[in-house]
Amino acid sequence: MERDPDLQVFVGATVHYVSFGTPGGEYESQCRAATVAELVAGPTDITPARVALVVHNPKGTFYDPNLPQAQGKEERVGGTWHWPDKHCPTIGSEWPK
Ligand SMILES: [Zn+2]
Repeated sequence: MERDPDLQVFVGATVHYVSFGTPGGEYESQCRAATVAELVAGPTDITPARVALVVHNPKGTFYDPNLPQAQGKEERVGGTWHWPDKHCPTIGSEWPK
């Protein structure tokens, strides 16, 4: 699942959006499937690529017009997107019990 970090994002690409968990911990922050709807701004030396996403949650879809790409796995926080890879807890994990 390791992807080329230089892979250019494109409209229609399937990426991961990181959801915000709830403050009380009822819901954890996690990777959700998302489709790139628009390229907003390309990456520079100091800023990440920004895209518009359609986010597919199990109980609904939502839209966000401007989200930054996480620059490393440590920066995969709520409100960012990244290419799916082996660091995603939802990939290669066991089925929920
Ligand atoms: Zn992920």
